[in-house]
Amino acid sequence: MSSILIATLFLLGIGLVAAMILTVAARVFHVHEDPRIIEVEDALLGANCGACGHPGCAAAAEAVVRGKAGPNVCVAGGYEIAQAVAEVMGLEAEQVEPRKAVLGCRYSADKAALQYIYNGAHDCRAAVLLYGGAKECMIGCLGLGTCERLCPFGAIHMGKGGLPVVNERLCTGCGICVDCCPTHVLRLESISERLRRFHTVEDCLAPCRQACPAQIDIAAYIDHIRNGRYLAAVETIKERNPLPLTCGRVCPHPCEMECRRLSVDEAVAINHLKRFAADYERESGKHLKPYIAPNTGKRIAVIGGGPAGLSCAYYLRRMGHTPEIFDAQPKLGGMLRYGIPEFRLPGKALDWEIEGILALGIETHTETVLGKDVTLQGLRDDGFDAVFLALGAWTSMSLGVEGDDLPGVMAGVDFLARQAAGDSPPLGERVVVVGGGNTAIDAARTCLRCGCGEVVILYRRSREEMPANDREVEETEREGARLHFLAAPSKLIAGADGKLAKLEYIQMELGEPDESGRRRPVPAPGSETVMEVGNIIAAIGQRPDVNFDADAPDDLKIGATRWDTLEADERTLQTNVPFIFTGGDVYTGPQTVVQAIAAGRRAARSIHLYVTGQEVAPPPGELREAVPCPPPDASDIPLSPRAEMPARSVEERLRGFQEVETGLSETAARREAQRCLQCGRICYRVGTQDIFSSAG
Ligand SMILES: Cc1cc2nc3c(=O)[nH]c(=O)nc-3n(C[C@H](O)[C@H](O)[C@H](O)COP(=O)(O)OP(=O)(O)OC[C@H]3O[C@@H](n4cnc5c(N)ncnc54)[C@H](O)[C@@H]3O)c2cc1C
Repeated sequence: MSSILIATLFLLGIGLVAAMILTVAARVFHVHEDPRIIEVEDALLGANCGACGHPGCAAAAEAVVRGKAGPNVCVAGGYEIAQAVAEVMGLEAEQVEPRKAVLGCRYSADKAALQYIYNGAHDCRAAVLLYGGAKECMIGCLGLGTCERLCPFGAIHMGKGGLPVVNERLCTGCGICVDCCPTHVLRLESISERLRRFHTVEDCLAPCRQACPAQIDIAAYIDHIRNGRYLAAVETIKERNPLPLTCGRVCPHPCEMECRRLSVDEAVAINHLKRFAADYERESGKHLKPYIAPNTGKRIAVIGGGPAGLSCAYYLRRMGHTPEIFDAQPKLGGMLRYGIPEFRLPGKALDWEIEGILALGIETHTETVLGKDVTLQGLRDDGFDAVFLALGAWTSMSLGVEGDDLPGVMAGVDFLARQAAGDSPPLGERVVVVGGGNTAIDAARTCLRCGCGEVVILYRRSREEMPANDREVEETEREGARLHFLAAPSKLIAGADGKLAKLEYIQMELGEPDESGRRRPVPAPGSETVMEVGNIIAAIGQRPDVNFDADAPDDLKIGATRWDTLEADERTLQTNVPFIFTGGDVYTGPQTVVQAIAAGRRAARSIHLYVTGQEVAPPPGELREAVPCPPPDASDIPLSPRAEMPARSVEERLRGFQEVETGLSETAARREAQRCLQCGRICYRVGTQDIFSSAG
């Protein structure tokens, strides 16, 4: 046998043995590849971005098939991808709200001063490592575009001012941009997460935005108005305040007190701009349809349909829950309808605004009183998952002097509520309104429109201490009411018919500050004066009525303070009964509309946590005190006068209840929007004169 033949046979033998070993090994060690892995992988986005926590789409698909991940494993894919994966697996896809990258800096890339030159570093991460960021602003965007370069979906480009612009259509929420941003100005958020967000210590916030109780992104909506995007402005406002038609008319606008433009000339007319945008939506005849998260099936009873209740119901609905509003009155609106008069807030505007909120799918039960028609126990038995109490403060305080119950003496809110309901009480020739708040001012202006010969406002402190809005006080005087300061009623005297005929009042002097910080009025003995009066309207304050459910079992009894306000955790608004939350005037005592609206959203956030089985914790990293913002260098900023709100003449006003203020024109609104400095915490836009300043 030749050596070649031997070698061939030997090799064949080895091959045979190897084949046999492999056959046995394949039988012993065979790993069955589930064909669904390939199918799931095909259904996934294929980005291999790793944002799901698996080292690629193949690994993610394997995790789904092995039951280690759900059909919505792909954070970068939307609901359709989750559905496709679920189909392969024969499962139900849980509806997932898509998350998108959101930019938290609107300002600093080209507006915050440089501390160093980047000197060759073209990557934000490197710039932070080498120079600590190199900008004076430590919380803003560095503008080197690392996020743009790393986004695998082309969803980010560096736009005007060197800031990244996220294309929401292309953004898959993979989070790569968030991970690479060293200053954390990019974050991932779904719309309902955005609605639940409160200012944090890390946010870049203009001073106006910090001062707004509702936390509206003021510079953003003004920027929209500047660019003629009025509906976008409304959308921005409604992320924080679902009642811009109302607030644009009655808000005392603390934001304007903090406006940086005050260092230049006058504050931007922020609230007039809000009204302009909201009026634009109304004039368009169509309510904006906001995004509503998938239904959760959780039912929440909202008791009280004033601004706090409406706001809470609105945000709960947008988060996918099912709120139902219960209210004692025939119509919703609370003090907006039954307190604030028609000439400041027309009923039709309020109706339109409330219609838009209810159109999201909110059921209402009017003329339904908690404690009479429904009870907390009943609501719990009916299967409500949570309750929000927003009952307001409707019990008037009496004058506490002899004769304060005589016929002819009325409480301010009762008088205004009757007027609003079309049941105008008869008034004498001279009416004295006692008090210095909004109720007193509104009552006095209403009397003037009802044809009273003389209206006097008696206030026990001085003008500086009056809690009413300054502008309303000025208008009341222009309309003819007489303001009498440092005076208080000491006795009310009946005439022969037993009805109120005379008022005795006493002069006051201001003493030491009281618990409110205002100087305490002290009577000056011997200064009593008597005047003839037809009516007295007492508008010296309201309290909540917290005896709404006296028969509630012990486990449903809610704590109350000595001021008759409900007790709750101030940051979550959860009461001692875990499924009951509260907010608005019933919690704080009489405050403002915007504060009630802010409380409604805060409670909606807490209720969302509660009904979804999460811990009801305060908003993480919440900003509790304003961060100081340095004043701008005003030298480059051209002076430009603030827009004046057009108003009807006094003669025209007093002929009826027509709205006094008529709203800014489009030209005036856009010119006013130009005055905004578009501030961040430390930066602001210099020379915002662009379009209009030369026109005057
Ligand atoms: C005359 C007047 C003028 C004002 N002007 C201004 C202004 O210009 N700017 C400003 O910002 N603020 C103003 N305010 C304050 C502002 O109106 C309130 O702060 C705000 O309305 C409070 O909102 P809320 O939702 O907490 O309560 P409310 O608006 O009082 O709403 C409470 C709701 O609860 C309902 N309710 C009460 N008890 C029950 C019950 N047992 N069962 C069922 N329902 C119940 C009521 O019917 C009502 O609808 C004014 C207030 C008044 C009285």
